[in-house]
Amino acid sequence: MFDVEKIRQDFPMLQNKQMQGKPLIYLDNAATTLKPQSVIDAICAYYCEYGANAHRGDYDLSYYVDQRYQEVRQKCVSFLNASPQEIVYTSGASAGLNLVAYGYGRTHLKAGDIVLTTIAEHASCILPWMRVCQEQKAQLQYIDISQDGRIHLDTLASMMSEKVKVIVLAHVTNVLGYEAPIKEICELAHRYGAVVVVDGAQSVAHQKIDVQALDCDFFAFSAHKMLGPTGIGVLYGKYHLLNQMEPIYLGGDSNARYYPNGEIILKDVPERFESGTQPIAEIFGLGAAIDYLTQVGMEHIYQYEKELHDYAIAKMKEMDHVILYHEDHASGIITFNVKNIFAQDVATWFNVNGIALRSGQHCAKLLNELLQCSATLRISLYFYNTKAEVDRFLEVLQHTTMENCLGAFF
Ligand code: PMP
Repeated sequence: MFDVEKIRQDFPMLQNKQMQGKPLIYLDNAATTLKPQSVIDAICAYYCEYGANAHRGDYDLSYYVDQRYQEVRQKCVSFLNASPQEIVYTSGASAGLNLVAYGYGRTHLKAGDIVLTTIAEHASCILPWMRVCQEQKAQLQYIDISQDGRIHLDTLASMMSEKVKVIVLAHVTNVLGYEAPIKEICELAHRYGAVVVVDGAQSVAHQKIDVQALDCDFFAFSAHKMLGPTGIGVLYGKYHLLNQMEPIYLGGDSNARYYPNGEIILKDVPERFESGTQPIAEIFGLGAAIDYLTQVGMEHIYQYEKELHDYAIAKMKEMDHVILYHEDHASGIITFNVKNIFAQDVATWFNVNGIALRSGQHCAKLLNELLQCSATLRISLYFYNTKAEVDRFLEVLQHTTMENCLGAFF
């Protein structure tokens, strides 16, 4: 049974926390999520009960760490419907996306090849490919989303050719909140021999992900956006593709042998991508986050967020001073502006009311033209938010005037 009040008791940050002397209402979950006690405990357990490094010691403690390390990989396997060799620990979505661009793009792209993306992507998704395309003299082209901010399959189909080698895009975009039809995009891409790199940063915490059903080639995400700690993430890659990739870093644990003449024999995947001491405590935390989400149930999370989202959107549409940039999607992301008031000034007004939301360009700096503004406000809901919190947000939004916003500075 989904009981939001009971769920909230698991989160220390939701226990009477105040901001500006007001009860905290945390609506910036697309930036990062709050952590349940079980995740915090798992991190502490590593430092208090295990302590040792992974893959290095011939003593019990180190063996326990190794076991736990692989156990969490197995949890990722079940969470995504992958296989253990396809789960690479990274430091987060940005690291995973860079690894694919540099590890796969650099060796597979040649002059004249095409990489497709959209202007709605996060910098971490697009910038590595911008650079790799420049280096390889390949072209980065943008799928036209000017119609309504979404990817339309017929538009994409009209851009496909044998020259397209990679399509890189978000599953759910972090500003518009739209979900891309990944399964259909993969079907189309594969007909032309292209691979699809999915930035899963904004989807993995909110819906059930089945990489086999999607048939995507790569899927990258961060633990901190799904109740886990910062500094750890996962790159899923199809085994045969990971096997064709070069690691960006070399070092301890990723090599099987090396010789004075420079010959380096790397370990098999995924270890070849996991050089050096990994963030072990964070991996423990990731395991606990997966357990927590699984226990609540991804279907419940998705459904509950959609209800909150639809409720907020319906009310916001009634407000004449509010500009909504999109309304018809299921994710918890709502991007908006208040007419004639700069977004950051509005965010300051929300701050003095104890409400944490985001303003600016949200790391998607190519979107300005489509949105026709230089900055927006964004709330992003999660399953521990309540209808009462949304009501309080709506009340403050209703009272958002230039006078109140300027008053918030003093
Ligand atoms: N892609 C998207 C869509 C994101 O929203 C983010 C984080 N804002 C990232 C990638 C990068 O994630 P991280 O900073 O955790 O590496």
